[in-house]
Amino acid sequence: MKEKHTITIISCLLIVVQAVQLEDKFFKGLNALLTRGKRQALPPVDVDAYLEKYGYLDIIPAEASHSEETRSNAISEFQRFANLPVSGQLDKATLQKMRQRRCGMRDVIRPSERNAELRARAQNEPLAFSNTYKWDHNEITYKFLDFTRQLPESSQRRAVQNALSKWAEVTPLIFRESTGSNPDILIAYRRNDHNDGSSFDGRGGTLAHAFFPGTASISGDTHFDEDEIWTENTEKGTNLEIVSAHEFGHALGLGHSNAIGALMKPFYGGYDPNYKLGTDDVYRIQQLYGGPNRRLNPQPTQAPKPTIIPSTNNKFCDLKFDGISNAHDGSTYIFRKKEIYKLSSRGYGIEPGFPQPIKNVYKQAPNGVGAVLYSSYTRHTYIFKGNRFWRFTGYTKDSGYPKMLEGFYVDIQAALEWRDGQIYVFKKDQYSVWREDFTRPPNGYPRPIASFWGNLIPNLEAAIRWRDGITYFFRGKNYIKFNDSRRQMEAGYPKPKAAPWLGCDRPIPK
Ligand SMILES: [Zn+2]
Ligand SMILES: [Zn+2]
Repeated sequence: MKEKHTITIISCLLIVVQAVQLEDKFFKGLNALLTRGKRQALPPVDVDAYLEKYGYLDIIPAEASHSEETRSNAISEFQRFANLPVSGQLDKATLQKMRQRRCGMRDVIRPSERNAELRARAQNEPLAFSNTYKWDHNEITYKFLDFTRQLPESSQRRAVQNALSKWAEVTPLIFRESTGSNPDILIAYRRNDHNDGSSFDGRGGTLAHAFFPGTASISGDTHFDEDEIWTENTEKGTNLEIVSAHEFGHALGLGHSNAIGALMKPFYGGYDPNYKLGTDDVYRIQQLYGGPNRRLNPQPTQAPKPTIIPSTNNKFCDLKFDGISNAHDGSTYIFRKKEIYKLSSRGYGIEPGFPQPIKNVYKQAPNGVGAVLYSSYTRHTYIFKGNRFWRFTGYTKDSGYPKMLEGFYVDIQAALEWRDGQIYVFKKDQYSVWREDFTRPPNGYPRPIASFWGNLIPNLEAAIRWRDGITYFFRGKNYIKFNDSRRQMEAGYPKPKAAPWLGCDRPIPK
């Protein structure tokens, strides 16, 4: 099942080398800041080593040093991530935060590893890593390589089972303890440098770390610092279950989060008997695995078979799309002016009985739309028009809607939930991310379409990630099949949409 990859081993060695440099630097005390409280000496913080370890600074040779500006920017980024006042200065609160017990995983992508897009995203939504690490199976096995002697084995089993159940409750994942030789998650207690590129540090500081899902032997493995005082049901020491739940988030593919209430925040917040996953944790894990017992995307259906389909000319062949959207029940609707058209379940052509007034289908909808989308995460349909948006559960408008939009969000022309789980909205030659709680675009948006969507044309009129899992855009008589991986239009597009979507002439595959 898992194989060792030479490349992985090499990169691990590189990390080990970097880690050795880091330790070396620590003992030299370069840039060490010794701060003293009024009554007792606080432990020193090697600020550069800390910022390097957690991704805010690039790792540089021990004899080199970071410029004041670079360090100040890194401190600002840390302050933002830790939800502290952002000053770029090493104030008391910042140093205190750096002394807090925490997870050994990085918070953010190291500056040199960020391309422009990732950097922009990291500033906007400082997720530690993009959601590209996940298991390709839903039954996850775990195994105890060893136990700490500080707690009974039964307590450690219970802590791990309880921690995993937090993730199982909101995903289709099932966890099973294994005695086999290739578990996904291998649980171990280690101290100091233990040859995996990330040292522990005695009591306090780093508590634990885990490896993201993958095919390497170490993928998913979760290590606890044996030098901590591991406890259960008490505020003393460090609670094993809460730290486990956090680390398993990494072992399932999540990076750190600074969202309020997130279990994936890097800092240990103390014992809380009622700890639970935050909204952000649930949102992100479901982006990876979907919700419990449901798929994130509908099953693709059979492609139309053009050779056996008779010619079907109809009066809708020139239909322009103001919006196109999946519905909660798997059907697809096209919006044009005051009317709504249901796409035939074959995937092309219009269902008999349509068009109808939009309000016949989406009760209390506006007369006409700028853009429409269905979110498989929130399971709501959103209709945008002018400076307002309407939210629907099924075909029923939710109370409290429409709500107002500002800035770039006014008069958007196309919208869709893309494969990364984000909602994107388009207008003219720009796009932005959108969330229900965003009245106006976050910092850094809108951006030129070309900055993310490759050669995608401007002035789009409708967009959908359709039931075949492919992203389509529409403009005038044409549509575009978009290659999500290459972030380019497929060769030969835009193409006329009359045949593949509206079933005119001889229907052809999209
Ligand atoms: Zn962590
Ligand atoms: Zn380790």
